[in-house]
Amino acid sequence: MIDKFIPLSVPNLKGNELKYVTQAIETEWVSTAGPYVNEFEKKLAEYVHAPAAVSCQNGTSGLHIALITLGVTNEDIVLVPTLTFIAAVNPVKYVGATPIFMDCDDSLCMDPLKLEKFCKEECDFIGGKLLDKQTGKHVKAIVVVHVFGNMADMESIMNIAEKYHVKVIEDATEALGTHYTAGKYKGRYAGMLGDVGVYSFNGNKIITTGGGGMLVSNDLRLLEHAKHLTTQAKSDEANFIHDEIGFNYRMTNMQAALGLAQLEQLEKFIRIKTENYFAYKKAMDGRNDLKILAVRDGIRSNYWFYSLFCASDYRYTRDELIRTLKENKIQTRPIWGLIHEQLPYLADRSYEIEQAKYYHAHVVNLPCSTNLTLSDVSRVCQHLL
Ligand SMILES: *Cc1c(COP(=O)(O)O)cnc(C)c1O
Repeated sequence: MIDKFIPLSVPNLKGNELKYVTQAIETEWVSTAGPYVNEFEKKLAEYVHAPAAVSCQNGTSGLHIALITLGVTNEDIVLVPTLTFIAAVNPVKYVGATPIFMDCDDSLCMDPLKLEKFCKEECDFIGGKLLDKQTGKHVKAIVVVHVFGNMADMESIMNIAEKYHVKVIEDATEALGTHYTAGKYKGRYAGMLGDVGVYSFNGNKIITTGGGGMLVSNDLRLLEHAKHLTTQAKSDEANFIHDEIGFNYRMTNMQAALGLAQLEQLEKFIRIKTENYFAYKKAMDGRNDLKILAVRDGIRSNYWFYSLFCASDYRYTRDELIRTLKENKIQTRPIWGLIHEQLPYLADRSYEIEQAKYYHAHVVNLPCSTNLTLSDVSRVCQHLL
């Protein structure tokens, strides 16, 4: 029998997607006006316990709007991770601000210890503002990414942010559904812990609208401003009067039709991803040279992506493993190139980056689609054990 191709992460559209999209087409509401957009925003807000949500064209535009609503400008510094997808950082440049790259901890998310050390040793806290010693610039915000669906250490990060009056943007594009199950934040969702949170519905994310994003917050006024900005900042509908520079970032009814159908299946997708995660993990039991990275304690992760850690004594290097699996029609990928080492960011500062380099060299992402069966998992493991 010829083995079928096992992709890394593909959409699963077997629910009400076709029905709702057909409805959007039959009613001819295909653009940014239309009932599905409001409905999807409402349902998503309910799911993460937000007072409201603001749809966007994608996660990247959501992050752009998040920075503007928090007042980040070209005079400010934003602390960002280096080990993540570049779309978490590019919006900092869109608003002309200066990123400084931070290291990760064993969760692959931003290391709160180094973050605190940076604030304490590299900055002065004067007049309620955190000022970078080297440039005198205001460190106004932090972008925290919940990498691969795991939760960053938000208790520590929020303590630091409160202490130094720094705003927190949660890039929860990979972590829709992840929430705390214990501790101070029990029951609270990734994206709803900082000042603003952003989700993505790109094709490889846990739910997809083809392309799309959503911005959430506890602050209704911020959300109103965000919606205003995503809809060209029109302050007088009838007369086309605009009171600031806006954007054409609102989601379309077609995208939202998909999103609504996907959201109905989110908990099912998380169950499947959880089951497959533990199947991979079990297959590595007793191995010292291979392991599936754990998620933080006290968290219900959405288990979006699985990270295989290959120790130095494993029989393959990272790239050999990727190649071997590819020859066997199994798609995997290395972790992202570190952002501080990439061409557009070479002139920017980074702070004590160590762990990110280590994980970058040793982690491979394994197939994790919600269409993945337990026998697919066994086949992947067969080739790598
Ligand atoms: C996917 C992703 C984004 C961007 O989302 P898009 O919808 O593709 O624009 C941003 N940050 C991270 C960490 C992501 O994984």
